[in-house]
Amino acid sequence: MTIKTSSASVLAGILALSVSSFALPAMADQDQTGAFVVQDGETAPEENIMDSAKPGDTASDDTADKKDKDKALADFVEDKEKIEGLFTFYRDKEKGELFMEISEDQLNQEFIYFIYVHNGVTGVPGLAFRGATGNNQVFSLAKHYNRIDFIEENTNFYYNPENPISRSADANVSSAVLATAEIKATSADKKRFLIPVDKMFLSEALTQLTPDKRPGDKDAGKYGPGKLSSSKSKITDINNYPENSDVIVDYVFDDSKAMPDRDNIGGLPRNGKLTLQHSFIQMPKNDFKPRLDDPRVGYFFQRATDMISHSATPYRDVIDRWSLVKKNPEAALSEPVEPIVYWIENTTPVEYRDTIRDALLTWNEAFEKAGFKDAIQVKIQPDDADWDAGDIRYNVLRWTASPRPRFGGYGPHFVNPRTGQVLGADIMLEQVFVTNRVHYSGLFETTALGLGDDSYTAFAPEQEFMTCSMGHQVQMAAQFGRSVLTSKGATEVEKNELVKQGLYYLTLHEVGHTLGLNHNMKATQLHAYKDIHDTDLTSKVGLAGSVMDYPAINIAGKGKPQGQFYTMKPGPYDLWAIEFGYSPDLEDPAKRRALLERSGEPALAFGNDADDMRAPGKAIDPRVMIGDMSGDAIAFAAHEIALSEDTLSTLLEKYDETGQSWHELRDAFFILSGAKGRAGGVISRYIGGVYVDRAFVGQDTVAKAPYVPVSKADQKRAMGLLRAEIFAPDAFAYPAELISHLQPQRRGFDFRSKGEDPKMHGRILKIQEGILSHLTHKDVLQRITDSGLYGNDYSVAEMMGELTDAIFEADLKGDVNSYRQNLQVSYIKRLVGIVKNKAISHQAHAAAFANLNRVSDWMAKSRRGGSDTRAHRDFLKYTIDQALYPAKS
Ligand SMILES: [Zn+2]
Repeated sequence: MTIKTSSASVLAGILALSVSSFALPAMADQDQTGAFVVQDGETAPEENIMDSAKPGDTASDDTADKKDKDKALADFVEDKEKIEGLFTFYRDKEKGELFMEISEDQLNQEFIYFIYVHNGVTGVPGLAFRGATGNNQVFSLAKHYNRIDFIEENTNFYYNPENPISRSADANVSSAVLATAEIKATSADKKRFLIPVDKMFLSEALTQLTPDKRPGDKDAGKYGPGKLSSSKSKITDINNYPENSDVIVDYVFDDSKAMPDRDNIGGLPRNGKLTLQHSFIQMPKNDFKPRLDDPRVGYFFQRATDMISHSATPYRDVIDRWSLVKKNPEAALSEPVEPIVYWIENTTPVEYRDTIRDALLTWNEAFEKAGFKDAIQVKIQPDDADWDAGDIRYNVLRWTASPRPRFGGYGPHFVNPRTGQVLGADIMLEQVFVTNRVHYSGLFETTALGLGDDSYTAFAPEQEFMTCSMGHQVQMAAQFGRSVLTSKGATEVEKNELVKQGLYYLTLHEVGHTLGLNHNMKATQLHAYKDIHDTDLTSKVGLAGSVMDYPAINIAGKGKPQGQFYTMKPGPYDLWAIEFGYSPDLEDPAKRRALLERSGEPALAFGNDADDMRAPGKAIDPRVMIGDMSGDAIAFAAHEIALSEDTLSTLLEKYDETGQSWHELRDAFFILSGAKGRAGGVISRYIGGVYVDRAFVGQDTVAKAPYVPVSKADQKRAMGLLRAEIFAPDAFAYPAELISHLQPQRRGFDFRSKGEDPKMHGRILKIQEGILSHLTHKDVLQRITDSGLYGNDYSVAEMMGELTDAIFEADLKGDVNSYRQNLQVSYIKRLVGIVKNKAISHQAHAAAFANLNRVSDWMAKSRRGGSDTRAHRDFLKYTIDQALYPAKS
């Protein structure tokens, strides 16, 4: 058990890459007996053990200044620069020391604390990127004799103040003293106190900067930002306003252990710098009514448990939403008193501004459903604006061109954790999104699904819902689309339309996040496969149920009419969700209930990141998936595979521009073959899948039950397609002439020991293994057996038998090509792994055992094929026999 507040880990979660490098401070851990023990061997670099953990400390104890503290405040600040705002600051004009004034009426009051990353570096693991957000919590200030404590409040529990139990509200619920400082001077009326704050801001007292060591991190300690240097770090700016005080700090790290610059793109190798803004914000004074969350709609929320309730689900989680109040409360449709205003940053290329503005305003249609007219407004930040996009008083759509963008788009917001009221939001859009630059690490280093975003797995589970790798997703899809269009001989105008629709969609999606919505990965199921290019239909209701999905690009086959590449408006689910979040009418419990009871309508289907099946073995409903399209995702994936194959067949002819290197051809090849792998992944999820419905008791829904296994026909159809398109001997039979042209353009000393040649065997096996990882995953195998109890009639034995057939049958009587040899070896090793894995179900053990014996027999009997095929079969038989019958072999 890590004793750490949830919010304190927020920034670390955002900051953490897949490696983290720091040991935790020695911490108490609870053993089985319930006693607290201190773990040995976990010591932190000195600077990371903050005074925050030791309330007895003082933030500044320079003996030379001791006598100052008795000085009257007015004398003390006489020669200092005064910066007025929510909290008034004073700065020493010579030494730069910073002091914060706290008045008596600010004591024991709650404030909101929020972290915004002004700038980071993308080459040093653990350091965040521009626009990222961190801690968003409630804090209060308390005076204890001659010191002031900064206390982080625990907002996770609710006690009805009218119930006597509320008097014990702090029982075993801890608030945290983040920092403490000795009072330096007091005003003559004893109502204002001055404390030094340099040490608090230049340390990790308020927010954790360096990532935690995560269990199982094999690279732990190898790479990281290094040690925070309080001498090199500095407070650069203070932006002070009546409702918020922002302190901007440059954090510098010594001895940085940067990640090797594998992509040769020029990250900062050492002494990474992180610029953070700490905002202290006044609690909003309004009659904002928190709205309780509901599992049928996807909002970000603030977690709170009702500690007195007798309910089995004592949740008082409140959704994140803006405060919108009707100017005319009686009118069915009224303008809000204060609209939500977004500013397009003046760094945005002029040619994209109209698209971004139009996409933003499209959301107004959803707000009309909730009773608001023109709820969203858009302005352009003037070139000579006297505010900066990091100013939290402005909601800004920012445009940046980072060297290694972690996101093509990112839509963070910050809230009042007590109520869920959204107080501000930004949207980050990356230049890479509109370029033709291929994101190599996403493309080559991930599984067959090529999920594009290497930062995904880096986030702590509670953070995953906050992240959005939509930009990469759409960018990869757009590049697939471009390659297909190029091969179809499309004009530049048509290709630009694709980029424009992608940017429109990206904007709609990221704005959706800032409105409080999380993902809806089920939304592309909206239309029947035959209808997805029917623009009469899709322009009216949208191409998907929601813009909060990661869709496949909707691209037509050769000679077929092309509809919308992406959905261009909030879909039925979005309209419904915004009504749920924003309609003032829903204060009425009956109306709220009636609206939520519509969740069974197919157009309102919802499933988010917690339910999506992007990673092998994860989740259970194949409709909740990224990179898919239509109510028949299997058919659409098969269509994508056909498009990919068709495009690849003419690739050499299309990329024939004299004077160009082969680089673009190579990119197109990898994009197209990767798309095939991703489509295979979508198909594979139907095998062993179970459809999930979130409807409550008594709702009118098409689903017969919350859990309905995928029909045997669809599971077998999926297996048949995988057999033909992914596992067949000729599934990746690309012509030699194409492979021999896959040359990247050389830059300096690239390649080095890696070599520049196309490594096709590794590439193809990775695609196939990505799919095998799902089909042989212990959770999938267990679920196939479990779901047999409520309707699944495709058993593990039958599934695994067909998979074995798919991988062996076609070339039993002849030569086994080199791709297929690799596939067969990989599969056999997996079956051996299943037999030996004690954590796997008995049914899976038995099926794997049976199939290994089948293959062993085949290998013994089949003596056809050339010498390499015979050697391969002998090796397979030896591998199986040694695993199953070690005594005999
Ligand atoms: Zn997203």
